[in-house]
Amino acid sequence: VEPPAAAAVPQAGRDGLVLLSRVGVVDPSSLDDYRAHGGYTALRRAFAIGAAGVIREVTESGLVGRGGAAFPTGRKWQATASQPDRTHYLVCNADESEPGTFKDRVLMEGDPYALVEAMTVAGFAVGARQGYLYLRGEYPRALARLEHALGQARARGLLGDDILGQGYSFDIEIRRGAGAYICGEETALFNSIEGHRGEPRSKPPFPVEKGLFGRPTAENNVETLVNVLPVLTMGAQAYAAVGTGASTGPKLFCVSGSVDRPGVYELPFGATLGELLELAGVREGLRAVLLGGAAGGFVRPDELDIPLTFEGTREAGATLGSGVVLAFDGTVPLPRLLLRIAEFFRDESCGQCVPCRVGTVRQEEALHRIAERRGAAAEPDIALLREVGRTMKDASICGLGQTAWNAVESAIDRLGAYE
Ligand code: NAD
Ligand code: SF4
Repeated sequence: VEPPAAAAVPQAGRDGLVLLSRVGVVDPSSLDDYRAHGGYTALRRAFAIGAAGVIREVTESGLVGRGGAAFPTGRKWQATASQPDRTHYLVCNADESEPGTFKDRVLMEGDPYALVEAMTVAGFAVGARQGYLYLRGEYPRALARLEHALGQARARGLLGDDILGQGYSFDIEIRRGAGAYICGEETALFNSIEGHRGEPRSKPPFPVEKGLFGRPTAENNVETLVNVLPVLTMGAQAYAAVGTGASTGPKLFCVSGSVDRPGVYELPFGATLGELLELAGVREGLRAVLLGGAAGGFVRPDELDIPLTFEGTREAGATLGSGVVLAFDGTVPLPRLLLRIAEFFRDESCGQCVPCRVGTVRQEEALHRIAERRGAAAEPDIALLREVGRTMKDASICGLGQTAWNAVESAIDRLGAYE
């Protein structure tokens, strides 16, 4: 099995990488190669310090979720582990579908055993005997590599009964998505695994209390789980020393668009947007950068000193999300781009709640009218967009409807689209 194309990881093989250290370096089909490059050291340490010790390390590391919402992982695990229910689940959200996001794919294709080991550590910490890996349906290469890795891990006593003779039993089942963006929302994902329509549930109750099959569930993104390995091998303090006080550790960024070297980049939190774009070879004539994907927002070329941290982007009125950085030069027609984003949300809305079901249609219609008139007399439609956008944000059940207006709003307010 060939490693991922070098083009997907321009830094492959460089010194100092943590999350990408094995990607493009090890043979992703070889458990021996994984072990020779530090694999399964974290699981051994987890068994040595016990489940409570793992949760303590993860909490002290400051690790927060890398799927986009930045919820503290240690808090999530502690809340799941402390539920009295005897059956707990671990779910890995690998339904990576945010436009412009492909970091989890690179991790799963290039270092599949890391995810298998990280899920085993997480399952041990939260008291789960069964883990589910919900994989985006359009990732066939990741599926093949993960299935192979699971088989090898089972054959070598690293999954199944009595792992490494430590008395802990755990296994992982892969479930494939079928192309719906909304199934990446954690509760829609649970419904999908359970065989129901992929529609989000109202929260609370949060999954830590009532998740998959109504049981306490820790649901984590692929990159979040893979971060647990260096937390345990480096130790919480050394891990927390990377990045900033509020955004600790390394982060993966997906850079694409008007750059010479698109791909997944690893940087410590705190590097600036400009530094990242420099690495990726940003082209002349940059017009805007979309941060955080379709649910994120635009920043201008004069704002490239924004630090890439959760707190820094928030302070700048932007969002880091899952680490999407889409660069656009002047050749990209902004109205067409916004219309495409609106089409995406209209298409992917599950239709369960009115503000999102109707709002995403009204948003697309208004943007269509503005694009057809090429900006002339846009004010009434912009006023309508603001009203619809506010309603979607305030009254939608889940993040899809709540963020469907973010990019359009920032394009109007920050970029002066349609002026
Ligand atoms: P959220 O803020 O509702 O929740 C984040 C996580 O924290 C969830 O797991 C939730 O269960 C947990 N949580 C929150 N409050 C809790 C509490 N009081 N107790 C216990 N657990 C609690 O966000 P969300 O709707 O799950 O995710 C939104 C994010 O997803 C956005 O930031 C967006 O960028 C991102 N996203 C990512 C992709 C992708 O492909 N990576 C796709 C779409 C959206
Ligand atoms: Fe479905 Fe949209 Fe409502 Fe979310 S906000 S539940 S995607 S209709």
